[in-house]
Amino acid sequence: MKLTPGMQQYMDIKNKHEDCIVLFRMGDFYETFFEDAKTCARELEITLTARGKDETKAPLAGLPYHALDPYLAKLVKKGYKVAIVEQIEDPKKAKGIVKRAVVRIVTPGTVFEPMILQEGHTNYLVSLAKASDEIGISACDVSTGEFITTQIKETQLVNELRRLNPAEVIIPMSLEESSFAKTLSESGFMISIFDDRHYYNATDTLKSFFQVLNLEAFNLPGNLSTQASGALLSYIKSNQVQSLSHINKIHSYTIDDFMHLDASTIRNLEVTSNLFGKDAQGSLLAVLDNTQTPMGKRLLRKWLTMPLKKKDQINERLNAVQDVFDKPIERDLLSKELESMYDIERLIGRVSFGNANPKDLVSLKLSFQIMPRIKEMCRTFESSLLSNITNLPDLSYSAQLITNAIKDEPNTTLREGNIIKSGYNKELDDLRAISSSGKSFLAQLEEREREKTGIKSLKIKYNRIFGYFIEVTKTNLDLVPEHYIRKQTQANSERYITEELKVMEGKILGAQERIVELEFNLFIEVIDKLKSEIDSVQVVAKHLGQLDCILCFAQIAQKKNYCRPELTEDTFEIIESRHPVIEAFSDISFIPNDCKLNKDHSMMIITGPNMAGKSTYMRQVALIALMSHAGSFVPATLAKIPLMDKIFTRIGAYDDLVSGQSTFMVEMSEAANILNNATSKSLVILDEIGRGTSTYDGLSLAWAITEYLHSKIKAKTLFATHYHHLNELASKYPAIGNYSIAIEEEEDKIVFLHKIVKGGTNKSYGIEVAKLAGVPKEVIDASILVMDSIQSSIGNINKEDRDLRDF
Ligand code: ATP
Repeated sequence: MKLTPGMQQYMDIKNKHEDCIVLFRMGDFYETFFEDAKTCARELEITLTARGKDETKAPLAGLPYHALDPYLAKLVKKGYKVAIVEQIEDPKKAKGIVKRAVVRIVTPGTVFEPMILQEGHTNYLVSLAKASDEIGISACDVSTGEFITTQIKETQLVNELRRLNPAEVIIPMSLEESSFAKTLSESGFMISIFDDRHYYNATDTLKSFFQVLNLEAFNLPGNLSTQASGALLSYIKSNQVQSLSHINKIHSYTIDDFMHLDASTIRNLEVTSNLFGKDAQGSLLAVLDNTQTPMGKRLLRKWLTMPLKKKDQINERLNAVQDVFDKPIERDLLSKELESMYDIERLIGRVSFGNANPKDLVSLKLSFQIMPRIKEMCRTFESSLLSNITNLPDLSYSAQLITNAIKDEPNTTLREGNIIKSGYNKELDDLRAISSSGKSFLAQLEEREREKTGIKSLKIKYNRIFGYFIEVTKTNLDLVPEHYIRKQTQANSERYITEELKVMEGKILGAQERIVELEFNLFIEVIDKLKSEIDSVQVVAKHLGQLDCILCFAQIAQKKNYCRPELTEDTFEIIESRHPVIEAFSDISFIPNDCKLNKDHSMMIITGPNMAGKSTYMRQVALIALMSHAGSFVPATLAKIPLMDKIFTRIGAYDDLVSGQSTFMVEMSEAANILNNATSKSLVILDEIGRGTSTYDGLSLAWAITEYLHSKIKAKTLFATHYHHLNELASKYPAIGNYSIAIEEEEDKIVFLHKIVKGGTNKSYGIEVAKLAGVPKEVIDASILVMDSIQSSIGNINKEDRDLRDF
C-alpha cells in the first residue's frame, strides 16, 4: 500500500510508540488514526471519520488543539499512554512535509498537568528491580519531586504497592513474561515495560542526574534500590519530561520504620475509603480530614496508612497536637492562614518543568506572603515540630520578585501579553507608552476624519487580517475622499486605509508584537530566578503539610472530645472508647466501651448476639491503636497504648474471584498471613474464623488458631465468634478472657445494649435478628421448629441454646 508522505511520517512515529495513543498535530487539530482513532472515538466520545480513499482509507478522529487538556486527562485517567506529536518547524517555511516529532509522552505516572492530578492524592510512578526474592522499589511523584526508595522481600511487595497506590509501575523488559509481572497486573497495577539497559546503567544515570561523583550521600539501601531509582529517572526522561530540577534528592526508607498494616487491614478498617466504594466517605480519613492545604491532605493519607513505630516520633507529633490543642485561639488563626495557601509543592514543580503560567506565580506569591505570619504565630509553641517552623525560609525574596514583576491579575496564557507589571522593565514601559499613545492618536484621527468628511458614523476599526481600517457605511459612500484606498467591501459598508493610518498601524502593531515578546522573555527570566528557590519551597511545603495535619488532629480532638493517648510498654487500656466513624457519621447515640489488655490478659473472646456490636467494638479498638501511632488523639476518655508493630484484621467474607480464591480460601490465606507474621507486639482482630467450611472443620481450626495466637505468638487478640465452645479456652488459659455484648430480653424481642461485659454467652439470637431483618414469618416459625427438633435430638444440650443450628 502506497502511503502519502504525511501518513508515512505518522506511521514512522507510531511504529516507535506502539504502546501509546499517538496524537498527531495537523494544523489546528491533533489527529488520531486506525486503532487509536477507534479508541479515542469510544473513550472520548468524539466522531470517528476516515481519511483517504479505498485501500489507503484510514479511520480518523481528531481533537481541536486548544481542547487538548481535558481529552488528555480522560485518556490518562483511563490508563492510556499518550504520545503528543507537534509540528517542530514553521509550516510556512517548510520545504515539503512539515517536520514533526514527539514532544512529550504522557503516562499515568509521569503527568504533571493539574487537570489530571487528584489534589489529595500522591501520584506515584514506581519502578521495580528484582533479584531472586529481593526487590528494589523506588517511587516518585513527578508533580512534587518527592522521590523515595527502599529494598524489600518479594513477599512484601504487593502490600507495599497497595499502600503506595501507584499510578504506574515500571519493570524491566526481561520480566515482561514472568509470573512476577503476571501477579502485578492481576493485582490491578498498571505495568509499563522498560529496557533492561536502563537498570544496568542506573548508577551512571543517578550520578549524572544529581551531578555527584558517587551516591554515598543518598545512602541507598542496596543495589536493587539503585537500579530501580536510576531506571525510574531514565523513564521520566524518556517520556520527554526534561526539566526536573525539583527532583533533587532521594529519600531512603525502611518499611520496618512504620507500623505494618496490610492492604486487607487498611480496607477492613476503612482507613482511607469505605468498604463498598473507592471514595473516602465513611472512612477514618473522612472523619479526620479537616486539612486546609493540598499538602496537608496528601500527608494525612500517608500518616494514616504509615503509622509510626518509634515512641519519640509518635510523642513528637502528640506533643505538637497537645500544643495547639491547648491554644485554641492561635490554632484557629493558623488554620485561617492555611486556608489561603495554594498547592505550593505542585506549583513549584510546574516552575521546574517550565509549564507554570502567570496565574500560578500569583498563587505562589500569595502563599509566600502568608509565611512570615505563620512563622510568627508558631513562636508561641514549644513542641519541636511547630517551633521548627519559625526557622523556615520565609520566601520573601520570591514573593517580592513576583510582586514586582507579575501583574496581580495576569493572563494565564504567555503569548498575549498582560503579564508583567509596569515599572518592572524600562523597555516594556516605553513600548507600552508608544502603543497607548498610538491608540489615543487613532481616536483623535477618527474624530478628525469624521469632521473632515462629514461622515458621522465613520469608524476606525481593527481585525487580525486587515489590521487597522476606516469603515464607512454604504449610505455615506459619496462623501468618501479620493485619497482613501479601498480594502474590502462588506454587505453594508466599505473598508479603507490611508497612508497616515498605515504608518500609525506599523508603529502600534510593531510595539504590540514587541511587548508580547518582551513580556514572554521577562516571564521566563522570573521563572528561572524562582528555580533557585525550589529547594526552600519544598522544605516549606513539607512543614506546612505537617502543620496542617497537626492542626487538623487538634481541631478534631476538641470538637469530638478525644483524649491524648499515653504510650506504654505493654498495657493497652482504653476507657469509654467510641468508634470514630460511627460516632461522626451516624445518628445513633453511641455507647462507649472499655478495653483492657496486657501480657497476662492478652486475648478477649467475644460472643454475643448477632447485631450486638462485636465487630464495631473490635474495629474501634484497632482504629484507636492506629490513630495513636499516627500521632492523633483518640475517641476515649483515657487511652494507654503500647507500642505496636503490626495490626492484623480478619473480617468478613468475600470471594476474591480475580485471583481465583474462594471465600474459605481467602479466609484461610488471611489467617495464615496473621499466624506467620504476627508478633507479641501485634494487635490481631478476628471477626469470626472458620465459618466458610463445615462446622466441625471450622470449629477445630478456630480452636487451634486461638491457642496458637495465645500460646506461641502472644499477640494482643480480640476474637469475636459464634462458636460458643471457644469460651472453654478461658478456663484452660488464664490470659484468655470471655466477654459478651449485653442485651435485654423483653417478651418476644431483644434490646441491644451495645455494652461489653465480662463473661461469655451461649446464645446468638440469630432467629430473632432474622425476624428483625424482615425474614417472612413462615420461615421464622419453621426455623424455630427445626431448632427445637435438633435440640431435642441432642438431649444433653440446654433447650435455650439456639445456636445448635451449627451442629
Ligand atoms: P454480627 O454478629 O451479626 O456480625 P455484630 O455483633 O458484629 O453482629 P455490629 O455489626 O458490630 O454487630 O453492630 C451492629 C450495629 O449495632 C451497628 O451497625 C451499629 O449501628 C450498632 N452498634 C454497634 N455498637 C454500638 C455502640 N457501641 N453504640 C451504639 N450502637 C452500636
